[in-house]
Amino acid sequence: MIIFKTSTHLSRFLEKKSLSGKQIGFVPTMGALHEGHIRLVRQAAAENDLSVCSIFVNPTQFNDPRDFEKYPSTLERDIQLLVPAGCSVLLVPGTGEIYPSGMDKLPSYDLGYLENILEGKYRPGHFQGVCQVVDRLLQIVRPNRLYMGRKDYQQCMVVKKLLQLNGMHTELITCDTVREKDGLAMSSRNQRLDARQRGKAASIFRVLEMIRAKLSEGGLEPLKREGRVALQDEGFRVDYVEICRADDLLPQDAWDGNTPLVALVAAYLGEVRLIDNMQVSF
Ligand code: AMP
Repeated sequence: MIIFKTSTHLSRFLEKKSLSGKQIGFVPTMGALHEGHIRLVRQAAAENDLSVCSIFVNPTQFNDPRDFEKYPSTLERDIQLLVPAGCSVLLVPGTGEIYPSGMDKLPSYDLGYLENILEGKYRPGHFQGVCQVVDRLLQIVRPNRLYMGRKDYQQCMVVKKLLQLNGMHTELITCDTVREKDGLAMSSRNQRLDARQRGKAASIFRVLEMIRAKLSEGGLEPLKREGRVALQDEGFRVDYVEICRADDLLPQDAWDGNTPLVALVAAYLGEVRLIDNMQVSF
């Protein structure tokens, strides 16, 4: 695995590979890697000639400065995980590499309603930050395929929109959520849970399963409320328990028995904010 710290060197290296017909798969991450990230890297390695991973904790997507400061960093360990996963190239840029003109006048993206619902509503500016970093990374790497996890369901939809807006021919490939044995979605933020919180964290998964099991035609509010109350009883501070159309993420009040739906949860345990989702009808 070759490690690059500068974007110009990486771009030059990858351009040569591209010109000689090599296919490039790209996995952007913020590090503190776990099996969820590693599956994406393995898939990128299996489906492309080169798999490129980036580790960059992007300041512009954090609406909460404390969350940014406390974001875990485990670079040595990340490198040890990436090599056996088949990662060919790792980019570990400094902030100046990603935002060479500073962070004051970054582009903004017309994301429509996606920016104002769910994560967009509770984390103002978050998806602009995601687009800023992903757009820049795509310009540097110019991949044929981009691999992202459906754990961040709304982020996948935002990046799909970004690819339409910037006109790049990169194919977005979304991958299943990787979970711990008790169902907790793997996340770098799980490292920040103490033992008591970790014991409770899988309640989010159980609420999603409950919604899937009880889903029936008609009003959805009672199910959302039941999920919210269950999490509050466990000590979570709930941002949302929502049920949306799977194809466009528009929140739904009722179900016709046919439309594919996804249930989504965001909730805090102490200072740690966890998100998860599950497709509840197909
Ligand atoms: P992050 O480092 O949190 O920005 O995540 C980098 C990529 O890994 C994103 O595309 C995430 O959706 C994906 N990812 C994070 N956790 C998981 C997981 N548990 N299962 C699958 N993909 C994940």
